[in-house]
Amino acid sequence: MKIMLSSCLVGKNVMYYGGNFLNEFLQRIIDHPEVQIIHFCPEDVVLGTPRNNMLIHDGDGRDVLSGIAQIIDTEGAVCTDTMLVGANKMLEFAQSARPDLILLTEGSDSCGSNIILDPKTQENGKYAFKKGMGLAAALLIKHGFKVIGHFNEREIFETLKEKLNELPDLENLRNVDEHNFYPK
Ligand code: SF4
Repeated sequence: MKIMLSSCLVGKNVMYYGGNFLNEFLQRIIDHPEVQIIHFCPEDVVLGTPRNNMLIHDGDGRDVLSGIAQIIDTEGAVCTDTMLVGANKMLEFAQSARPDLILLTEGSDSCGSNIILDPKTQENGKYAFKKGMGLAAALLIKHGFKVIGHFNEREIFETLKEKLNELPDLENLRNVDEHNFYPK
């Protein structure tokens, strides 16, 4: 089974500040002998790392694709066109690699598939989440790819259990809407 992930989920230090989101749950998937992993970061490919954090104003990734929302970084630079280039590069990568499933980092204005940052909530440089999709996730979904956010651990597990042998039983898995940071 070929699984494509956000690069930061496989341990690549491509978050805007240079970190990653690899955890024990993801490592078990990555290490599974029947899984082939590929990964892509739509921001690192066009902006490099480190870079400023990106925020979608007046909508989400679907609204950026419709031309009614903009992506502005935390220093105030409009980055919509650059981010569209990165998202389209990710789409081209997926169309070429043809993964069975795509797992993306939740909460990112590129990769989030259920929640993204809310630019109206800035407090000491931190943001709360709002419901919505990031730009790259919206583009991949628009083109028919199955995308699951990395906080939907139970959904990921149930999906993989149908396709993989000997997936270890994992307990206490939650989906994104069961976390206390999920917007009401
Ligand atoms: S753009 Fe996506 S892959 Fe890149 S660091 Fe952000 S969440 Fe990870």
